[in-house]
Amino acid sequence: MVLISCKNCHKMYEKENYDEFVCTRCKHKVKRRISYSLQTSIALTICAILLYIPAMLYPMMEVTKLGVKVESTILEGVISFLEYKSYFIAFVVFAASVVIPIIKLAGLLFIFISLEINIKMENKTKVKIFKFIEAIGKWSMIDIYVVAILASVIQLDEIFNIKGGIAATSFALMVVLTMIAAHRFDTRIIWDE
Ligand SMILES: [Zn+2]
Repeated sequence: MVLISCKNCHKMYEKENYDEFVCTRCKHKVKRRISYSLQTSIALTICAILLYIPAMLYPMMEVTKLGVKVESTILEGVISFLEYKSYFIAFVVFAASVVIPIIKLAGLLFIFISLEINIKMENKTKVKIFKFIEAIGKWSMIDIYVVAILASVIQLDEIFNIKGGIAATSFALMVVLTMIAAHRFDTRIIWDE
């Protein structure tokens, strides 16, 4: 007899062996291991890091005002919010689109690399870092919402026309890849010897 808990809802089962089964409470597929978890997560994290570059360098928004097209990157956007004295929005955009993605990607990469090269560190600390990254994940889409809300508000004014630029696409992709990388990662690997 072995005791197995569902990774999703933590329901406990008493089973004969480690064969795969479906959790009766949450319908999650309970597996001994997610296959190629670490490799997939590392690959996705590296792709996300590469996408961070165009997300910063290319225009996030294209604003057409009276027929004149003005493009601005995330940082230029933050600066213009500061100029308009919208300090709160400037802070939210800066935190959500510049700082949080860096913390997340650096944190994930650090955990994955530490598992590959066996950095001396308490496993509990690694799990804590990982849980923290998962928790802040939800907040990194804020920036896309800010652009969407701004677009709908300013669109009401007929002389303005706002569109998402290349950076918006890269940014959204980066956020999604980071989320999959964190989700695909099997935290049980941390406890392997
Ligand atoms: Zn379950």
